[in-house]
Amino acid sequence: MSTSVESTGRDGSRAAPAGLLTLGGAPLPLTVPARVYVCGITPYDVTHLGHAATFVWADVLTRVVRMTGVDTVVTRNITDVDDVLTRAAAERGRGYDEFGLTQEFWFDRDMADLHVRPPTHAPHARHHVTHVVRLAAALLATGAAYERDGHVFFRGAGVPAATGLDRAAALALSREYGDRPDDPLRDDPFDVPVWHPSAPGDPAWPSPWGPGRPGWHAECAAMALATLGGVVDVLAGGADLAFPHHAYQSAMASAVTGAAPFARRGLRVGTVGLAGAKMAKSTGNLVLVNDVLQGRPAAAVRLMLLHRDWREPWDYRPEDVDAAVGRLEELYVAAGIRSGSAGAVDRVRAALLDDLDVPAAVGVAIEAGGDAARQVIRTLALQ
Ligand code: ZN
Repeated sequence: MSTSVESTGRDGSRAAPAGLLTLGGAPLPLTVPARVYVCGITPYDVTHLGHAATFVWADVLTRVVRMTGVDTVVTRNITDVDDVLTRAAAERGRGYDEFGLTQEFWFDRDMADLHVRPPTHAPHARHHVTHVVRLAAALLATGAAYERDGHVFFRGAGVPAATGLDRAAALALSREYGDRPDDPLRDDPFDVPVWHPSAPGDPAWPSPWGPGRPGWHAECAAMALATLGGVVDVLAGGADLAFPHHAYQSAMASAVTGAAPFARRGLRVGTVGLAGAKMAKSTGNLVLVNDVLQGRPAAAVRLMLLHRDWREPWDYRPEDVDAAVGRLEELYVAAGIRSGSAGAVDRVRAALLDDLDVPAAVGVAIEAGGDAARQVIRTLALQ
């Protein structure tokens, strides 16, 4: 990859010319600055390893882009207008906004501990309600949405097919993620709310369609449009966000801007499991970032999250951190070697640009040592 000869990526995909990022199996020539939208947390509980994997990978993507000399603008939102947050706050007798800020404080601490750089923009959904109202009005004006009984529904009948999902699979996912496809108020099961009335006692804002609040997908579409513009280079998040969330967020943005695709590429990070089941707050099957970090170097936890293919789902095992501690030691020893082979730094950079191939980059760095090892430590923030 360090020469101008075209080569084939590790999964048989097309490889980019030297110095160009390949992401998701195809070259991605970047705009300057590169714009990255990362779907952030709903701040109702502590951060688990699945969240950490997503945000550490998004961080590494931006660091690799910056390694090429291209600056990045990153938005990572906070979904603080959400039923699950409202419920969690109410159970504790606290306001959703104040409770959310407390959770955000712990999240920011976990991210700082994991060397994740703060995003350029960290918009809160509750501060962007007027942007969602404008988005809803624009979708109504173009005929991409309709008003019904205080709701504004986005016409989403074509979204599953555009995502490559069959109807049955899409219906199951819509139900799982709370899009309520069986609601008889809608023209089509795949229509989703841009705006809907709030339940009594829940947060509500004024709108031309009556008091209410934004739908989840519309929040992210509005925050992306407000902070990054009509097209992003990379839309990042956990693999489970591909449908419905990323699909609808993208469809709504494209419907108002006319620019498609909204996201030039997706970075949907493989789900982290525990003992064969998905790690999730809702099931209590989770490992907290703060617990994993106890007594272990943060750089080793970071390397454990990164020493794999970002797309692949995986199961967390405590011994994986021990392996990462050992690998990190090798890397530090290699970095202490005064010089190294001249081509090794190029090979490290080429591996990172080849779909963020961290295991290949680390392998070269440990073998060659010197500048190559220092490059890996610097770019992956393993200090
Ligand atoms: Zn989102």
